[in-house]
Amino acid sequence: MELLVIMMRYIMIVLFVIAIAPQDSNNDSQPTEKRMKFTPVARIAMNNMIEEFGGDLVSLNMEMDCQGICCKCGDTQGGVEPDAAGYTCESCGEPAVMGFEDALMQLEFNS
Ligand SMILES: [Zn+2]
Repeated sequence: MELLVIMMRYIMIVLFVIAIAPQDSNNDSQPTEKRMKFTPVARIAMNNMIEEFGGDLVSLNMEMDCQGICCKCGDTQGGVEPDAAGYTCESCGEPAVMGFEDALMQLEFNS
């Protein structure tokens, strides 16, 4: 009889773990960064800036220190941390401003 109780307990623990596990993995996947999509306008603005610096992304990134770019309208604005995302754009009002460094990396990643 004792063995049966132990087995029951074991099964209950296993069921408990199974019930908990998917919730944990969901919680882990939720904070993953919200990737922003560049509109063609923003992409062109970005490409123009890269061209201005002759493709020198390091110099461009240094020049754009603490600046962000809007993924919707391509406008740049100051006071944005390199890894910021979802700041409200001063030009179009969309929460689509991201740090310039991240924007550069994403552009490179997507192209
Ligand atoms: Zn904008």
